[in-house]
Amino acid sequence: MTSPDGAVFTDGLRPVDVLTVVAVTDVTPSVRRVTLSGDAAVVAAAGPTVNLLVPRVDDPDPRWPRIQRDGRIVWPEGSHGIALRSYTARRQDPAAGEVDIDFVLHGDGPAAAWAAAARPGALLGIAGAASLAERPARWLLLVADETALPAVSRILAAAAPDTTGVAFLEVAGPEEEQPLPAPAGVAVHWLHRGATAPGESTLLTDAVAGLDRPPGDDVFAWVGAESAAVRAIRADLRGRWGLGRAQHHAIGYWRRGRSMAPAG
Ligand SMILES: Cc1cc2nc3c(=O)[nH]c(=O)nc-3n(C[C@H](O)[C@H](O)[C@H](O)COP(=O)(O)OP(=O)(O)OC[C@H]3O[C@@H](n4cnc5c(N)ncnc54)[C@H](O)[C@@H]3O)c2cc1C
Repeated sequence: MTSPDGAVFTDGLRPVDVLTVVAVTDVTPSVRRVTLSGDAAVVAAAGPTVNLLVPRVDDPDPRWPRIQRDGRIVWPEGSHGIALRSYTARRQDPAAGEVDIDFVLHGDGPAAAWAAAARPGALLGIAGAASLAERPARWLLLVADETALPAVSRILAAAAPDTTGVAFLEVAGPEEEQPLPAPAGVAVHWLHRGATAPGESTLLTDAVAGLDRPPGDDVFAWVGAESAAVRAIRADLRGRWGLGRAQHHAIGYWRRGRSMAPAG
């Protein structure tokens, strides 16, 4: 029996797609780019948002879950050490069979630990993908910390050349800034939190609070950062700016002091 994309089902379940690390590069002191290789169809489907199955560091033979026909994950019984985490494919090249994922090396956490230790030959599973939920608009507001820079880079790269707007991007300092090609009419502002811990600064919230809504309705705001900051910004955009549901997408990318999903 096969799934619509040709994968084999056993007892109604199919294996997860697995990619292999082929290169690891440090983009900035705290962002590690992992280049993964795999089947062209798997790479084409692996993004822009991707659900990663992250094995324990140096696990040579991960006990992968399997996938139901409806896409649900069926975990193996007992301890398997695989964590489910959302990431963004910064680059997808199905012809070359490659996908790049930029991991913030924030310290604790299965995904950050895996990326810090990643070497060519390491394996990473994939259990589904989703869109970035962005919408083209004449005027764009982008608000992100370092975890959402891959998403912002894709949104800016896909924006029409005559797009106008503002991007507020929070990182630790100048050494964490990344080249981000953007339409000339989008003003990119890097905000440096310095010694303040990630998730504790109010830079993004304050920046949005100091910005007036542009005239017209062809406006879209995309926000990805620590959950508490995102909540405050979402409330501001819905309240003071009066943005409707179709005019914004604001999602917590991580939660201070909490894992994003239970590890196995
Ligand atoms: C749709 C989506 C796309 C994402 N894309 C990316 C991406 O491309 N690159 C990327 O790096 N992240 C991305 N993230 C964020 C990433 O999923 C979270 O940071 C996740 O918590 C990391 O998992 P972990 O196993 O390393 O840590 P967890 O087990 O989830 O957390 C362990 C501890 O680390 C803390 N923590 C988690 N993230 C951070 C951080 N960034 N800074 C400081 N402390 C942190 C938590 O508060 C917790 O205390 C994305 C999130 C979403 C929802």
